[in-house]
Amino acid sequence: MNLEKNHPGKLFILSGPSGAGKGTICKALLDQTDLQLSVSMTTRAPREGEIHGKHYYFVSEEEFVANIENDGFLEHAQVYGRRYGTPKAPVIEKLEKGIDVILEIDIQGALKVKENYPDGVFIFILPPSMSVLRKRLTGRGTETPEAIEMRLGETLKELSFIEKYDYCVVNGELDEAVTRVKSIVVAEHSKVTFTAEELIRKYEEE
Ligand code: ADP
Ligand code: 5GP
Repeated sequence: MNLEKNHPGKLFILSGPSGAGKGTICKALLDQTDLQLSVSMTTRAPREGEIHGKHYYFVSEEEFVANIENDGFLEHAQVYGRRYGTPKAPVIEKLEKGIDVILEIDIQGALKVKENYPDGVFIFILPPSMSVLRKRLTGRGTETPEAIEMRLGETLKELSFIEKYDYCVVNGELDEAVTRVKSIVVAEHSKVTFTAEELIRKYEEE
C-alpha cells in the first residue's frame, strides 16, 4: 500500500462548452503534471499545425465505424456533425500501470464514460460569461461565424448537465483555473481508499 498514491491511475474527464478553454487548460496540465492525454479519433479534417497521433487520430468514416464494430471505443459521439471517440485500449493500459489519464471530450461523451466508468473524476470547465465565451470563440478564429453561433446555441443546453459532474472550474484567469484542476488531481489522490486494518498493519511493519 502506498499512502501517497494509493490506487492505480485515475481517469480525469475534462469537458464543457466549446471555447470554455478545455484544450488550453489541458495543454498546461500536460506540461506541468504527469497526466497523460488520451488521443481521440475523429473524422474531421486536421487544422493547420495539427499532427496525426498527437492531437487526434484523423481517420475515415469507414475506419471509425470499424472501430465501433470492434468495440474499440470507451465512448464515441457525433459532435458538430463530425465523429469523435476515445480509443479504449490505451486508456485501460495506462490506468492499469498507475498512470493518470485525462480525456478532453464533449459533454455527451463524458456522460457515456460516466455510465461505464463511474470512478472517473468529472470536471466541467465553465467560461466566466457568455460574452467572454463569444469573444474567445471569435478570437480563436477556427470556426466560421455560423459555426460559432451553433456552438454558442448549444451552451445553455450543455450547462443543464452540470449536476452530473464532480467539480466545476471557471476559466477566468488561466493560471488560476489550471491550479484549481491540479488541486482536484491532488485531492482525488488523497482520498481514503484503504481500511484501518491495512493502515495499522503498514505502520506496525515499519
Ligand atoms: P475549448 O478547447 O474548450 O474549445 P480552447 O482551449 O480552444 O477552448 O479556448 C478557446 C479560446 O480561448 C482559445 O483561443 C484560447 O487561447 C482562449 N483562452 C482559453 N483560456 C483562456 C483564458 N483563461 N483567458 C483568455 N483566453 C483564453
Ligand atoms: P474540435 O473539433 O474543436 O477539436 O473538438 C470539438 C469537440 O469535440 C470539443 O468539445 C472536444 O472536447 C470534443 N471531443 C474531442 N475528442 C473527443 C472524443 O474523443 N469524444 C467526444 N465525445 N468528444 C470529443
